[in-house]
Amino acid sequence: MSWIDPNFPKMATPSDLVGRVLGLNPGMMTASGTNTYLVGRRDPVLIDTGAGVPEYVPLFGEYLGHRGWTRPSRIILTHRHRDHLGGVAHLREKFPGLSVAKMIWKDTDLPEGTEDLRDGQVVTGDGATLVPIHTPGHASDHLCYYLPEERALFSGDLILNGSTTVIPEEDGDLALYMDSLRRVQALDLRRIYPAHGEVIEDPAGKIQEYIDHRMLREKQILETLGGGAATIPAIVKIIYAEVPEKLHAMAGQSVHSHLKKLLKDGRVSEETIPNAPSRWTLLG
Ligand SMILES: [Zn+2]
Repeated sequence: MSWIDPNFPKMATPSDLVGRVLGLNPGMMTASGTNTYLVGRRDPVLIDTGAGVPEYVPLFGEYLGHRGWTRPSRIILTHRHRDHLGGVAHLREKFPGLSVAKMIWKDTDLPEGTEDLRDGQVVTGDGATLVPIHTPGHASDHLCYYLPEERALFSGDLILNGSTTVIPEEDGDLALYMDSLRRVQALDLRRIYPAHGEVIEDPAGKIQEYIDHRMLREKQILETLGGGAATIPAIVKIIYAEVPEKLHAMAGQSVHSHLKKLLKDGRVSEETIPNAPSRWTLLG
């Protein structure tokens, strides 16, 4: 996809309190790769670890050296997806005893000894405070981290720079996702450090854009249903007419996430049909 930028910097220092090392895992779902952030003046807290690409740890070491640091104080994760926690094992080989924390929620396969971290349970770094904010929708265990010193948010996969977030079929929930966007909208942020893409300098605009985008999709889906399309493939064919067909399955997931939300809102009904796509009807 066009949002893989080959010139995206592998290391950066976007502020006095924040350093960034790229996970080196470019892809359709990860853009240039996952951003991992080092937060604090010394003994930095590491947010996320990339996908476990072997070249990441040497690059990480290089960045530490460049800052005059020897190791991170601890690891905290935004959520369980592989491109965020996949680097934990390599980092722990290099830095024995490094602790790992995340919100433990419906998890089955976590690194040994992962500690539970909950909404509001403040993580203190050197000159930096990180406040976990439970923000489900993309993943049920998703935490953003608020940095009050900069009125900044480490948004994980809640908000990205360059694309919209996927709401996965299994663990995603669009209604919760919208609630999460509104929750971080209320923080009156100055900056967003996303897990994928460059720093977002206009948080209010970006969050509103994300909300508007979903509202527009919802409107389109309601209109398409009103026009007689009754199944997800039929809806996708109309709304995503300009998108290559190989991406229609992914688009179908997105439409389904909207329909599940509309079902919850009492605006549509679903008739399941064996061995065929469900039929959806507009109510009222
Ligand atoms: Zn994710």
